[in-house]
Amino acid sequence: MSTVTENQTRSNGTYATASNGSKTSVGGARAAAIAAVTGYKPSPPPMNFKDTPTGDLFNANVFSKAVMKQRLPKPIFKALCGTIEGGEKLDCSTADAVASAMKDWAIEKGATHYAHVFYPLTGSTAEKHDSFLSPDGEGGALAEFSGKQLIQGEPDGSSFPTGGIRATFEARGYTIWDVTSPAYILENANGTTLCIPTAFVSWTGEALDKKTPVLRSMQALNKQAQRVLKLFGHTDGALVSSTAGPEQEYFLIDRNFFYARPDLLNAGRTLFGAPPPKGQEFDDHYFGAIPDRVLAFMLECERELFKLGIPVKTRHNEVAPSQYEIAPMFEFANMATDHQQLMMTTLKKTAEKHGMACLMHEKPFAGVNGSGKHVNWSMGSASQGNLLDPGDTPHENAQFLLICAAVIRAVHKYQGLLRAVVASASNDHRLGANEAPPAIISIFLGDQLTDVFEQIKAGGANSSLPKGTLTVGVDVLPPLPKDAGDRNRTSPFAFTGNRFEFRAVGASQSIAGPLVAMNTIVAESLDYCATRLEDATGGDPSKLHGALQKLLTEIMNEHGAIVFNGDGYSEEWHQEAEKRGLLNLKTTADALPILQTEEVKELFTKYDVLSERELSSRLDTYLEQYCLSVSVEVKLTLEMARTLIFPAAIRYQNELASTCANLKMLGYEFDTDTLDRMTGLVKSLQDSIAELQATLEEPESEDLLAEANNYCNVVLPAMAKVREYADELEAVVEDDLWPLPN
Ligand code: ADP
Ligand code: MG
Repeated sequence: MSTVTENQTRSNGTYATASNGSKTSVGGARAAAIAAVTGYKPSPPPMNFKDTPTGDLFNANVFSKAVMKQRLPKPIFKALCGTIEGGEKLDCSTADAVASAMKDWAIEKGATHYAHVFYPLTGSTAEKHDSFLSPDGEGGALAEFSGKQLIQGEPDGSSFPTGGIRATFEARGYTIWDVTSPAYILENANGTTLCIPTAFVSWTGEALDKKTPVLRSMQALNKQAQRVLKLFGHTDGALVSSTAGPEQEYFLIDRNFFYARPDLLNAGRTLFGAPPPKGQEFDDHYFGAIPDRVLAFMLECERELFKLGIPVKTRHNEVAPSQYEIAPMFEFANMATDHQQLMMTTLKKTAEKHGMACLMHEKPFAGVNGSGKHVNWSMGSASQGNLLDPGDTPHENAQFLLICAAVIRAVHKYQGLLRAVVASASNDHRLGANEAPPAIISIFLGDQLTDVFEQIKAGGANSSLPKGTLTVGVDVLPPLPKDAGDRNRTSPFAFTGNRFEFRAVGASQSIAGPLVAMNTIVAESLDYCATRLEDATGGDPSKLHGALQKLLTEIMNEHGAIVFNGDGYSEEWHQEAEKRGLLNLKTTADALPILQTEEVKELFTKYDVLSERELSSRLDTYLEQYCLSVSVEVKLTLEMARTLIFPAAIRYQNELASTCANLKMLGYEFDTDTLDRMTGLVKSLQDSIAELQATLEEPESEDLLAEANNYCNVVLPAMAKVREYADELEAVVEDDLWPLPN
């Protein structure tokens, strides 16, 4: 990038001064946008942790159990707890009392409106705002909020994708209060709102959202886990919940840079750009000044998230320049999902406040590591604790090994589903591309646990176990790994000491889909194991360990192929995985059809997580979203290639041509290599633009999958061609003429 003086101007645009003092050359309409942000001075509020200690901030804006206990009459509070913890039905008078207390609390906190917050299939967060005020009939207004308004809302959600569910009935959808996720206050510059987390369903009760299936899948998991626990003598019935702790990766960049790139602004990633020179992955120009601002940003984020009851710990991530990570303490899966959505919103909002843009695209910059979301997953109950904790005694070990084996079986059996639930146009740039983790789903167990399972596997081959070989729950097991010392970053599904970590999830995705899949496939596996063991023991506990040994051996023989501790990036693994019969679904178009297989339909209907219609509506919606994302990128590519890159190339070609003409006129000897190269590239660019345009001229197909395949196999390669020539041009064209900050 060239440096120029403040008041220098050019015929093709203006020079905008970035807030960090750097200059970038820009042209046309974007200049206005940049001018609007260049004068920007970040004005974060003072971070005063002395007057308000972090401990006091935590949950400050949450209608938490403590607040409810304090504000609700005792019987009402008890009834509400019964609903939250025991799933009992909420009656109208309880709802009215809760609503009234909630309203008073919210108004004291400055709220003027309440919003039912719901989570449509786009993976985003939606809100419908209503005022507390109603006319009192005498020219005044009263603050009102009834139990009915708390429990149910009717958003005009007709603009959200529903995969055809509502089209055949009526446009209406309802939001229904999820009592298990507490209401909270959201403070915005323009006002304060009471937010009520809700499920979004059609009037026939079909789930139109991401939350409802999470709740259903948690129920399914609990039911099957209870049967397994009973076999081990735990009959207290304490609710088994799945737990989740998502680690969010993101990029932070200066907003000036963000606004100067139409591709970043509109598609969340750069669609053009030659690979950065070796050893300098980014231009320091933009990134050098950030760390102080980043720290201020992080502190403010942390504070806002604490107020919302989200227990975060932030960290700097070293993987790529300007890439960071934030992770909360794990919570119950549905809470973690709601909190994750809030976290993404808070990150973006706070970044803007600090003059930056928070990018959650999976691959904002080619040639630099992308962003994912590691979803740590486990299950546990109040009486049993974490069920994936190996424990210290053989008995605990036996229970742990069974549950762990159930997960292994589930992941092997439903590897395609796990791939499908992380499929998106943007995540395709990570999975299956040259980046971690690969599109092949496998499990990392670590050496020690792998060894234990290897022994279990061998146990099945010999009817009498050789001396010293492990017999589950009888011989003393070697101490099982509690701390995952040996880390493997390339595995998409890794055991990390007391939980599994699903790393293929995309940074911008809702974690709901992956959690629904994990909860349901493990529920199915636990169901299978419980049934087998119940049949084999016939209720006689003394037969348990023999039956268990047999079952574990069988599971490992049938499903052990999913375990892989090596380097997931390597070419050898791709070959080995193929030999093992593991799926390698490289793209979204390859992966999504898994949702229409009989096996997956059966899985979701059997455990009442998704009906066939609900499942097919999701397939349609995700296919549509895929096509939409790619088509946005294609349109942007065409526009940028035509209106920014091609004109710059022509201008440079023109300069070269006139130089050559002048030299010729003066009778000098000269060669036209550069001009020839430019002419060749300009022609190639022009042709590739025409070819890309032609791919769009195909009539739109009624068949969504066919359309997705066309985008994937025809349109995307044509788009890559345009980029290839544009990037070659970037390396040749005079820097001053290049229209995009690189
Ligand atoms: P890493 O070493 O992978 O960076 P971190 O310690 O940053 O791991 O993050 C681990 C995440 O796993 C945290 O969000 C943490 O709360 C979560 N976690 C820990 N225990 C459990 C559990 N039992 N269930 C779900 N998530 C858990
Ligand atoms: Mg991790």
